[in-house]
Amino acid sequence: MKRQTAQRRTIERIFREAKNPIGVEEILSLGKKHVTSLNRATVYRNLKLLLRDGVIQKIVHPTLGILYEIAGKAHHHYFQCRTCNRAFELPGCIINAGAAAPEGFLVEDHEVFLFGVCPSCVPA
Ligand SMILES: [Zn+2]
Ligand SMILES: [Zn+2]
Repeated sequence: MKRQTAQRRTIERIFREAKNPIGVEEILSLGKKHVTSLNRATVYRNLKLLLRDGVIQKIVHPTLGILYEIAGKAHHHYFQCRTCNRAFELPGCIINAGAAAPEGFLVEDHEVFLFGVCPSCVPA
């Protein structure tokens, strides 16, 4: 029981410290630095619990698949670097979704992903 709590706490901390949304592989490699017994099944089990408890939220990324981030952040979007394949959080909203849809369409939600090259990958 104690070990399970440590695993969950480690995963929660990874999310609190992460600047960008992360996937299972990244959570696993970061988590193993703190809890060596961590494995993929444990990560999945804890992600499920954290989702259920509303601690984290899921993002369906068009190329990276399913990513997770801490819940309760203000509405925002992502920039996807095509070189290092990382997703970066962008501040705020970049579109007027209501105005983007044709007359008669009721917009309920939207996702925007920008693609390009991040600052650390821009050729010098
Ligand atoms: Zn990059
Ligand atoms: Zn938006």
